[in-house]
Amino acid sequence: MATPSKLNLTQWDDRYAELRRDGLREPAYGGPLRRHVEQEKDFRLEQLQFDNSPAALRLWNFLLTENERLRQARARGEKIVGAMKDLGTVPVMAYALPGLRAFYPDGAWWTPCLMEGSDRLLQQAEALGIDASFCPVRAMLPAFQNGGHFPLPDLLLCSTGAVCDDFSAIAQRLEHLGHAILWWEMPRRRAPAAGETACALPGNLTAPKIQVDCVRAELQRVGQVLGQLAGKDLDDALLTDGIRAANHVRRLLAELRQTVYAAPRAPLPALELLVAEMLALHFCSDREECIAVLEDLLAEARARVWQNQFVSGAEAVRIFWVNPVADLRAMNLLEDLGGRICGSDFMFTHALDLIPEDLPPLEALARSALADPMAGPATDRAARIVRECRANGVEAVVVSRIPGASHCAREGEIIREIVRQTIGLPAIELEIPPVCDALLPTLASRLQALVETARAKRTK
Ligand code: SF4
Repeated sequence: MATPSKLNLTQWDDRYAELRRDGLREPAYGGPLRRHVEQEKDFRLEQLQFDNSPAALRLWNFLLTENERLRQARARGEKIVGAMKDLGTVPVMAYALPGLRAFYPDGAWWTPCLMEGSDRLLQQAEALGIDASFCPVRAMLPAFQNGGHFPLPDLLLCSTGAVCDDFSAIAQRLEHLGHAILWWEMPRRRAPAAGETACALPGNLTAPKIQVDCVRAELQRVGQVLGQLAGKDLDDALLTDGIRAANHVRRLLAELRQTVYAAPRAPLPALELLVAEMLALHFCSDREECIAVLEDLLAEARARVWQNQFVSGAEAVRIFWVNPVADLRAMNLLEDLGGRICGSDFMFTHALDLIPEDLPPLEALARSALADPMAGPATDRAARIVRECRANGVEAVVVSRIPGASHCAREGEIIREIVRQTIGLPAIELEIPPVCDALLPTLASRLQALVETARAKRTK
């Protein structure tokens, strides 16, 4: 095993040649990282630092070949399902059926970052009536129109109800442009009132039974349509198997996170951890390969811990990161400044929690869907963040804002306040745009100040 380190793209060219010389075996989507710049114009890769392991290479190649693999699946006669907004529920159902592949068109929000704006998706969204007052997920709209990114789905679904204004407006615009959408209702989660029957949800949450019943009925409707597309009923047996497979992915992620957070220094970089977590959503369009990718990463992390080899310094400050970053470079920046990730809430913690296996499968999935952190109050999110900060020995919290995002104007403030009041940790809120180069000095000085404040507290 090579000594862990982070490499830029040029260094990875040499590393890849060396691995090939040493007999590296790769899956069909394997190859040098550089080709994603040359062929797909993913110019941002030239500014990132990557882990040097073959497991990380496989992870990146898996992520960056998703659209290509979806097109290959369609050419084989498989049906493509576009799930929108629920982040982690509909794909569990779709992958339970033969011949279906689900993905999130929402993921197009990273395209302007990866292509450093050369795709002009954000400007095209503006021409379609969705301007910069909306969050970067608006990149999805022109991506549907020009068809040059992901393949157009055979079936498009979107949760509605407890959904941010941005997504709601963008999805409605999409429908007006001629893309038919099957809408399904997600109620805003609330605590059960006195005398109401309550249901336990994953993530230490509860909701009134009436809300769980509503989501279950909606998912039943979704399941019927998915079954029609697949030409096979989504019965309890198939869904139970689908839930077990999804939980396999979630268990691997939980072990990976725990291995990294519990280690005395970070065995894997923050950027690769963020990408790995994203796989929970729709298995990056290939559930079996997703499992293999995560197993490789977990084996690498464990081997490094065992051999006492790490990518972060001994003094690195343990950071909890809230919300995904539009510009992936922010994850590198945090580590350059002496931080390491020891906890995260990237807005889909419900996709990380195990789906109950001791309940009827649709009921279990409804409870899991209702545990969506974005479908309930920010105080629920904050309570979980506090619990995980305590459990993982976190020393500081970063709430990264998403430009234009309407999901909760005061969310960051609420989370920071609760974190400060309950566990007294330093916490900052900062905004990360899709390409953050112009803001690097400001971001760096704020992160540096946070890291130094957390270090200073160690000596008190
Ligand atoms: S406003 Fe927030 S929750 Fe809504 S799409 Fe944008 S980032 Fe996601």
